[in-house]
Amino acid sequence: MSCTTVTETEEQFLTPELKQIEEIRAVSKSKTVSARDLQPIVWRNVAKFALLHLAGLVGLYQAIFYAKWATLLFTFVLFCVSQFGATGGAHRLWSHRSFKAHWPAKVILMYFNTFSFQNDIIEWARDHRCHHKWTDTDADPHNAQRGLFYSHIGWLMVKKHPEVIRRGKTLDISDLTNDPVLKFQRKYYLPMAIFNGFIFTTIVPWYFWGETAFNALYIAGFLRYVASLNVTFCVNSLAHFIGYKPYDLSISPTENIMTSITTMGEGGHNYHHTFPQDYRTSEFGRFANWTTILIDIFAALGWVYDRKTVSNEIIARQIAKHGPNFGHSH
Ligand SMILES: [Zn+2]
Ligand SMILES: [Zn+2]
Repeated sequence: MSCTTVTETEEQFLTPELKQIEEIRAVSKSKTVSARDLQPIVWRNVAKFALLHLAGLVGLYQAIFYAKWATLLFTFVLFCVSQFGATGGAHRLWSHRSFKAHWPAKVILMYFNTFSFQNDIIEWARDHRCHHKWTDTDADPHNAQRGLFYSHIGWLMVKKHPEVIRRGKTLDISDLTNDPVLKFQRKYYLPMAIFNGFIFTTIVPWYFWGETAFNALYIAGFLRYVASLNVTFCVNSLAHFIGYKPYDLSISPTENIMTSITTMGEGGHNYHHTFPQDYRTSEFGRFANWTTILIDIFAALGWVYDRKTVSNEIIARQIAKHGPNFGHSH
């Protein structure tokens, strides 16, 4: 099992474009148009999220008082499947190209990803590349400078900022749009996401262990979906507000252990924004990082290869230069 060590920080993929970030900030400051005019509320999305959360609460109530144990276990497994499809697939493989995958891994990750129902991978990865390149500016889809609610879910309830659209178009995403596995997902996205997320999840508990169809739909369907959405959203919200910044004090992303636990390993966010190429998205390899463990299992099976990591020496140099003790050593 070989890992490729990235030796120079210049080799990092999706490092922030510092000059462009300054440019965008200067333009935003000079603008007199309010964000509300630039990004009107999309009421259809507000209603959709409100109803979805209501359905999730019904599912939570049923899960606490009426569900069978097998349904709860099934829901938990499906939650992990949804998460791994987002973290291992959309995020670490396709957004960052932090490891390479043969077709079995690609197909599994794409299939798992449809359970998470967070837009197709091409759209997800494009948004995410914007987030890394222009972090905390108007070109960042979930700009944390706009507050906790906006970066969590608010950004999905308003029109995209014109700067996100404009800058997003300058990104090269041909590696995504030319990928046959992603083309397939895009073509059949809605039927696949609805079938996997809500129909399959209702039929299995009902058919195999006699759960009511209502419980199956609201627990394994809605509750699992709402929980999975919110823990993913926490990477954009909580992990940009609460936690330590050992690797770069000047950026908003933090090390947030709660987010690591709930997302299967995506809470090492100060590290991840500093070293976006590292497939572990954390200095601490497999600790509270089930996504890394699963990718390593895939590697042992020969399905993935060329997992990129950053050497301890570079990490130490980064901490000394840009971490909390920055200034003391000079
Ligand atoms: Zn990322
Ligand atoms: Zn981030």
